[in-house]
Amino acid sequence: MDWQALRHNMVAEQLAGRGITDSRVLDAMRHVPRHIFVPEEHQHLAYEDTPLPIGDHQTISQPFMVALMSQLLALDGHERVLEIGTGCGYQTAILGYLAKFVYSIERIPSLAGMAYEHLKALNITNVHITIADGSYGLPDKCPYEGIMVTAVAPQVPRPLVSQLSRAGGRLVIPIGRGDKQELVLIQRQGDQYTQNKITPVRFVPLIGKFGFQPPED
Ligand code: SAM
Repeated sequence: MDWQALRHNMVAEQLAGRGITDSRVLDAMRHVPRHIFVPEEHQHLAYEDTPLPIGDHQTISQPFMVALMSQLLALDGHERVLEIGTGCGYQTAILGYLAKFVYSIERIPSLAGMAYEHLKALNITNVHITIADGSYGLPDKCPYEGIMVTAVAPQVPRPLVSQLSRAGGRLVIPIGRGDKQELVLIQRQGDQYTQNKITPVRFVPLIGKFGFQPPED
């Protein structure tokens, strides 16, 4: 497989061709090898326009969604970012390319371990992964110029908004349940918050204190 050609094609057709304009985001997605993050049996689909299973009933997000959510954070490389839902670590790697430092939280230890190995293999060193319920955020390290949640919450988790930088911090998060979910962008200026709906989406649930209850066995 000519992975690089597939990747460049993905960026041209699925991202630039569909309205992603942030050149740093496009560069990041040309640079980071998505196939490394995908289980071997799905690797041939790594640059297709689709989410893919990564184990533990979780997914790696569709490339367009990774690009859109990254663009909404409007990063210039100086920021401290919090990501909730590390999964296999692909979005984490993209954020590592775009920001100064990334804290990422994953609740499933095996996925956190997998993400750690992927990021190590790519020599990405400006990322720290924590195993925890990310609906609490990571108050010790706040404020964050950007917070990204890659799982859907029933409402905006209160702790996250308070951990945003007062000087224009941005939170991007899917809100809703089932097939009624919207990607939402929240921006903070001092004590003022603005909230905008971006587009309908479909994500796995954020499981935790400020998310959904865990499913019963
Ligand atoms: N960011 C990934 C990527 O690169 O494509 C996709 C993440 S997947 C769609 C959502 C992840 O959120 C899953 O790995 C899931 O285990 C995790 N998750 C769900 N609830 C969580 C919580 N409360 N804290 C941390 N991670 C959580």
